[in-house]
Amino acid sequence: MAGAQAAVPLTAPLGGLHLRPMTDAGDMTSRDDLTIRLCGPRGFCAGVDRAIQIVVLAIKKYGAPVYVRHEIVHNRYVVEGLQERGAVFIEELSEIPDDHRDRPVVFSAHGVPQSVPADAQARNLFYLDATCPLVSKVHKQAMRHQRLGRHVILIGHAGHPEVIGTMGQLPEGAVTLVETEEDAACVIVPDEQELGFVTQTTLSVDDTEGVIRALEARFPTIRAPAAESICYATTNRQVAVKEAAPGTDLFLVVGAPNSSNSRRLVEVAERAGAKRALLVQRASEIPWDELGNLRTLGLSAGASAPEIIVDEIIEAFRARYDVTVELAITAEETENFPLMRDLRDVELTRADMAFVNGGA
Ligand code: SF4
Repeated sequence: MAGAQAAVPLTAPLGGLHLRPMTDAGDMTSRDDLTIRLCGPRGFCAGVDRAIQIVVLAIKKYGAPVYVRHEIVHNRYVVEGLQERGAVFIEELSEIPDDHRDRPVVFSAHGVPQSVPADAQARNLFYLDATCPLVSKVHKQAMRHQRLGRHVILIGHAGHPEVIGTMGQLPEGAVTLVETEEDAACVIVPDEQELGFVTQTTLSVDDTEGVIRALEARFPTIRAPAAESICYATTNRQVAVKEAAPGTDLFLVVGAPNSSNSRRLVEVAERAGAKRALLVQRASEIPWDELGNLRTLGLSAGASAPEIIVDEIIEAFRARYDVTVELAITAEETENFPLMRDLRDVELTRADMAFVNGGA
């Protein structure tokens, strides 16, 4: 798995991150101590980073508006930040007014069925495809299975845009969706001897292993994809949460309710031993009155959640507790997906991305 490296001890507070209480209230003695175990890796993955950059750079190069089909990534804060800069979010290409057909349209990181670029071409639209390269890789693996005469089983969540996009790479009826081990136990396929599977990139690693085992038990000749479908970012974030969650009184995952990988992190935290785990989009969603006797907090962020919100949440705890931050780092990520040629001539500055990364 890309990015996996030796674990760093969990309990080593970093000098720069040993946070002292805010002194503006002038009351340092009444605050309770709180240790925050901050997971790493967390937050933006290379695919999300690239997708946001594509919208930012398209607006810089072509001016506003730039249309974006579906939420570019599943995060309201990111979507609103891009709207402020001139992005217009739509669900279908038919929503682009006739007099804006010269405007670029960006496809989201989740990928799209083949019918969408075909529709864009038929409408004479200029499109920029921000599909994550690792989602495109799954598309290619599904197509390869089919080319080799296999019916494709896709393990994933019904209705998720990535699942819709992957199923839409092949003709209707060529892919069967399996969501659970129970589905795997009763799925009906055209030919039990000619099967291949792929998975959504953002699933629970443990749950997916169970589904694959169930499929292999029923269909011993089923073929795996040439490479792991669950992506490095999903795997790395789950591993870090597993390390950090045991013994925490509360585990917070920054992410949106429609973010698959963020929701999986909440489940992983609960299963790994957090007393309670919650998904929050902003610090304002934290149920402060219900936190009880909080001594240890786990904190991570889904692949579509900006670091600026992680900072906001730490600051919110600093305002209420005497906080020490410990890093729970289980991998270093160096992945970086290149932009399409059309946008390589536009300079991306730190200020361009400050609305999600903080600083300037
Ligand atoms: S979560 Fe994985 S597949 Fe999805 S955008 Fe990020 S790197 Fe790509």
